[in-house]
Amino acid sequence: MVLTYEQALAVVQERISAANPNPPIETLPLGQAPGRVLAEDVTADRDLPPFHRAIRDGYALRAADLTTLPALLRCVGEVPAGRSFEAEVGPGQCVSIMTGAPLPAGADAVVMVEHTRSMGDDIEIQRSVRPWENVVLKGSEATLGTRILPRGSRLQAAEIGLLAAVGKATVAVHRHPRVAILPTGDEVVPVEQRPLWFQIRNSNAVTLAAQVTAAGGAPAQLGIAADRKDVLREMIERGLKSDLLLLSGGVSMGKFDLVEEVMAELGAEFFFQGVAIRPGKPLVFGRVGDLHFFGLPGNPVSTFVTFELFVRPALALLGGAGFEPPVFLRARLVKPWRQKTGLTTFMPARVWAQNGDPVVELVGWQGSGDLVGIAAANCFLVIHPDQIELAAGDWVDVMPKEQ
Ligand code: AMP
Ligand code: MG
Repeated sequence: MVLTYEQALAVVQERISAANPNPPIETLPLGQAPGRVLAEDVTADRDLPPFHRAIRDGYALRAADLTTLPALLRCVGEVPAGRSFEAEVGPGQCVSIMTGAPLPAGADAVVMVEHTRSMGDDIEIQRSVRPWENVVLKGSEATLGTRILPRGSRLQAAEIGLLAAVGKATVAVHRHPRVAILPTGDEVVPVEQRPLWFQIRNSNAVTLAAQVTAAGGAPAQLGIAADRKDVLREMIERGLKSDLLLLSGGVSMGKFDLVEEVMAELGAEFFFQGVAIRPGKPLVFGRVGDLHFFGLPGNPVSTFVTFELFVRPALALLGGAGFEPPVFLRARLVKPWRQKTGLTTFMPARVWAQNGDPVVELVGWQGSGDLVGIAAANCFLVIHPDQIELAAGDWVDVMPKEQ
């Protein structure tokens, strides 16, 4: 049975979640953690910010002193970032303060230096401020002991920064899921080899490896399998120790499309064989023993798109990150579009801003084999089966090329 895109994605989520992936945990220095999935809940070890923090250069003062303007306040000291002012700022007084410095006791606001004039020991203040203006209150971002990042968070630049801010010099993360990659096809030759005129370089294996790495997995190349059952079987068996097996090619209806047959002989259970999408319709998902596998169609664009749609979310689950479905954004169509395929279609396109709105236009491409087309794209235009006729200016879904 051929599933819809949404049904197939739900099957991937259900099947992998049901297997209860429990990826091993390791402790890494923070600098090695980008891209990993957090394996512990992290709490704030102090208030954030740890003190009432000035966010402008200017004068710390009492807002109530500025009822009549200009006001003349006595400057009683200075507090740069990295120092503290220990006395209290009294009525009629101010303290010169820099961005990042703690607000002295007694003061309740900062007036920007641009709105003041220095007159010897006195400062003329030309604008009033609301209480706590230009100040971020102690603990307003997070208070001591609260959870600032839950287990399962993917650690990217901002999360790494937050971990650093709460003193996590080392952090417990999940191990990368190991992903075995097996391209198939008698016509497929290694990139280093000079192809005969009827041969094709193995672009899928490196593309998939790059996608696996970007998705937080560790790719392992199994080589290139010929379209022969015995060879395929032997090479597939080498990948059975991984956390996920990705095959490319050999899942269509051709005489030499042998992947499903061999997987069946190895005792595989198939969760779906075919999805109503274009490109990528012959996509296969299943399990052999404890190992999940995808049989990705060999056409390079099909391989790329089916990875982004289904393998990436599967990898997130296998890596301990929870379910991360592809995100679609919206843009306006530049040119009208008609289709009557009954499929969810993903076409290489470019999105850019025009008169304040995102707009999207297809890049010229020759179908699901066209890597040149996909390289020129920065997104995929997503057309749903019920969108039979679309006019220029209609809002449509776009999927960023890499999530
Ligand atoms: P298949 O899915 O095996 O029918 O292959 C579909 C198309 O993708 C064919 O034109 C293949 O030559 C091409 N193809 C298959 N595997 C690869 C690969 N590893 N790298 C580049 N192109 C491939
Ligand atoms: Mg083939």
